[in-house]
Amino acid sequence: MRTLLTMCCVLISSALFSQNEMTVSSPDGNLKVTVALASGQPVYAVTYHDKPMLENSPLGLTTNEGDFSTNMSFVDSTTGEVDKTYTQAKIKHSFIQYKANTLKCTFSNADKKQISVLFQVSDNDIAFCYELPTWGETLACVVEKEATGYRFPSITTAFLSGMMEPMAGFARTSPSYENGYVADEPMEKTTSPEGYVFPGLFRVGDNGWVLLSETGVRSLYCGSHLSKFTDGLYTVEYPNPKQNNGFGSNGAQLGLPGVTPWRTLTIGATLEPVVETTIPWDVVDPLYEPSQDYKFGRSTWSWIVWQDPSMNYQDQVTYIDLAAAMSYEYILIDAWWDKNIGYEKMEALIRYAESKGVGVFLWYNSNGSFNDAFPTPLHKMNTSIARKHEMKWLRKAGVTGLKVDFLGGDKQETMRLYEDILSDANDYGLMVIFHGATLPRGWARMYPNFVGNEAVLASEMLVFMQHVRNQEAFFAALHPFIRNAVATMEFGGVFLNKFLNKGNKDGQKRLTTDAFQLATGILFQNPVQMFALTPNNLTDAPIFAIDFMKNIPTTWDETRFVDGYPGKYAVVARRNGQQWFVAGVNAEKEAKKLKLQLPMLAGQIVAMYNDNKNKASFMKDAKISENGTLDITIQPNGGFVLVK
Ligand code: CA
Repeated sequence: MRTLLTMCCVLISSALFSQNEMTVSSPDGNLKVTVALASGQPVYAVTYHDKPMLENSPLGLTTNEGDFSTNMSFVDSTTGEVDKTYTQAKIKHSFIQYKANTLKCTFSNADKKQISVLFQVSDNDIAFCYELPTWGETLACVVEKEATGYRFPSITTAFLSGMMEPMAGFARTSPSYENGYVADEPMEKTTSPEGYVFPGLFRVGDNGWVLLSETGVRSLYCGSHLSKFTDGLYTVEYPNPKQNNGFGSNGAQLGLPGVTPWRTLTIGATLEPVVETTIPWDVVDPLYEPSQDYKFGRSTWSWIVWQDPSMNYQDQVTYIDLAAAMSYEYILIDAWWDKNIGYEKMEALIRYAESKGVGVFLWYNSNGSFNDAFPTPLHKMNTSIARKHEMKWLRKAGVTGLKVDFLGGDKQETMRLYEDILSDANDYGLMVIFHGATLPRGWARMYPNFVGNEAVLASEMLVFMQHVRNQEAFFAALHPFIRNAVATMEFGGVFLNKFLNKGNKDGQKRLTTDAFQLATGILFQNPVQMFALTPNNLTDAPIFAIDFMKNIPTTWDETRFVDGYPGKYAVVARRNGQQWFVAGVNAEKEAKKLKLQLPMLAGQIVAMYNDNKNKASFMKDAKISENGTLDITIQPNGGFVLVK
């Protein structure tokens, strides 16, 4: 009798437990999320092929209407499915099918107020967000803090870029997502005081890979980032209150019912799902219609190598002629054009560009009142009144797009400025690139005229800093797996100058090969690319390199992971129409011999751009075997491209 009773109790408690433990699996069944309550705190755990990828990790929020991270009880859960297809010209694939199973778990807090967490689980991605209903007559709240965390198994190592401290660097314009990376670092060592930017990549030993990010961040929320590793986990942190000169809240002001941005995890046994993921765009939708059919393409820009002294009429004519000689669609005219050329002569310059079939992007300073950024034009983008006045002129003058710089920070008020600039620009038919900027979280799909953010230690730092030139290949071998995996990246690269200055005779020596540079034109993905070519390259660079750059596309129908290890080497294949480009770089000290698996090119003759062991780049034909393999060697600081 006694034994029976005990058994009974065990059964009851196990039934109660399973009632409070909810699971959802991907359509293929391999990726599984389990949600439960642990002493009043909602938690979730993730397995892939039954191997742990995340251990019980906290969920929940704290708002000015109450705490939703502790003393919670389970209310109910519902399941469902999502199946959608969409087309998108600006990212790594042009046609996307997204299929996911959903689980929505509702909890109530000590005051009987409810929130839900909605999980969408596709074969290699998890996206989840919080849904906040109305609480009686309460139709607004401020989310002050998020409990969401990521507790990786202890075998995990991290690939992370530190969040920059606020109000530091050039003209107090940070943070702008322009730090370096740690690679394969034990988690205990990832203790950068400001935490780490999204996205962050994690290797869970031999279990596989997890890429963390967020998407769907717009004017209705702040951008967030990862905390430093604390108490065995990383948590979602809101901006440092010192951003924006300390002005503006660092939480989120949310109308009710309301939703948070999506927290995303891309998970695979290999890096293939990481390189190929479309989750940042799968769970968002366009926020407005494009006012016109925006045309993406290639551009020249004088500032990157010829710098500030080139901001004059004659040098800009020279770079318009370079764009025309390259059959490029655009020129970007950078800072100081208003002072050094002037609005009136700019109209003539824009007409000259037009006569050569070249469209014009113009640079603007976003400031304002939030930092010391002084290059002009200034005070033209920070208020709606100034913006619309300027944009009216831009449209009349025939300008195609803007590059807006120096927006430091992730506070909600900065997200509002990004969105307001994009929305106004669309009204005037202008595309927009942001530099000195945050990570664009889903923006390629959300904003039809958005064509890329910097948010990377970009080409300018190769010009400015020896230590960045020393690490050029290391960073290039990280971006396809991290930064550029979740968002378009306006890097401004492909240098064919041997020295990164106007004289091209000495000084800032480039340490990577010409073939490496060509490879980055394919590896780094952005629908509009500002290339760092100079007029002298038409005569001093190898003819095959210039011909390659004349024909390089910037939009892709398909992207495939071929091979690589973050920070060591990376090989990616991209398809534009019928044409395949396979590009790779090597950041290791030794030449890398690879047997590439290229089934899409089986039996074909391709043009191969590569380096010999003296680092001289060449082009010759190569035959892909009938079973789709190619043996190739990549030199240290070298690269290759195959084109068919
Ligand atoms: Ca920058």
